[in-house]
Amino acid sequence: MWLRPFELLSLFVFSVILLSVTHGIAHASTVRFVDGEGEILTEVEFKLHQDIVYLPVETLKTVFDPEMKHLYHSPKKQLTLKIKGKELRLRMENKTVNIDSGKQTITLTAPPIAIQGQPMLPIHFFEKILQYLDDVEVLYNANLQRVKIMPKTSSALETSDGTREWVIIIDPGHGGEDNLGCKSHNGLLEKEIVLTVAKQIKTLSARHGFIVHLTRDQDVYKTLIQRAQTANRTQGQLFLSLHCNASFSSHHKGMRLYINNPNGQIRSKFTSMPVFGKKRLNIITQVNFLKQSKDFANILRKELNFLAQDPIVITEFPIITLADVHMPAVLLELGYLSNIDDAKQLSNPDHLAELAEAIIRAIQLYSTSVKQSSNSNGFQE
Ligand SMILES: [Zn+2]
Repeated sequence: MWLRPFELLSLFVFSVILLSVTHGIAHASTVRFVDGEGEILTEVEFKLHQDIVYLPVETLKTVFDPEMKHLYHSPKKQLTLKIKGKELRLRMENKTVNIDSGKQTITLTAPPIAIQGQPMLPIHFFEKILQYLDDVEVLYNANLQRVKIMPKTSSALETSDGTREWVIIIDPGHGGEDNLGCKSHNGLLEKEIVLTVAKQIKTLSARHGFIVHLTRDQDVYKTLIQRAQTANRTQGQLFLSLHCNASFSSHHKGMRLYINNPNGQIRSKFTSMPVFGKKRLNIITQVNFLKQSKDFANILRKELNFLAQDPIVITEFPIITLADVHMPAVLLELGYLSNIDDAKQLSNPDHLAELAEAIIRAIQLYSTSVKQSSNSNGFQE
């Protein structure tokens, strides 16, 4: 079909508008499912109903059980799911999920509903029900519309094999009159954010059988030496220092992970600095743990990537904060207080709680991997 120039132009403009609109909607209205490694399983379009995210029943097939079968009786509004060897009965507009003819009933926070004659499951169904059907943990990040489905991790308590309990040192940076910490435009303070997260890690840790020591548990000033001494005295298995970033550019954003490596990125700069005997010896001691520090940083990155818009980068360079610590050690920058989006997230208590939970999960996964490798090597710690 031939079109006159004006018609061609209007068609072009219309297509551009249509494309950008559909693209915008498609981007904003999908939930991304990832596995324990952070690999994408699928991306599913969702529908919003009363601010609740709803997904098609078929999603279960792609992300959880390829053998899943479902039957929807439209007049009765009844949905039967055969999944992981169990039978689930649901009714539209009803929050109760009946498993195996009433052996178990679970109440959802939102009911399944029918949209254009198709049964749809609320996101809460995925969060809550899947763990009853298999050994999985499900995490939902409402901010980025991501769902992570991962194998359940055994806690340190469960593996009571005579090895001593895990001691973790959490180091909330700055504090007191230390004015090196950063601050957001709306007055958010680095020293307060990191202390909040550190305290939450400590609270959560008890449930997982870890002993957590904080290098400070209030708004006081501690020197780097004092922090390292606390860590070394308690002979912890892991040291995690928490900070926030700031930049002259308001575009810089996101989390960053650092490990201490004197041979890292700025080697030449470092070796040209005067190095005194004791300090040098200490740095070498921390380097003995370089491999473990990298292992932990990698696990931490996987867990935190779930909460991050862009993949987190691990940087190795000589870090004075970690240099005197005689155990695997990682420094985590939770975000840029100079960036509006980051500052907004870091002022949200839910986000801080999610960060603490992700860190605890990483510690748990790391401790399990260490125990497994020491068991397979035939020696105990
Ligand atoms: Zn800092």
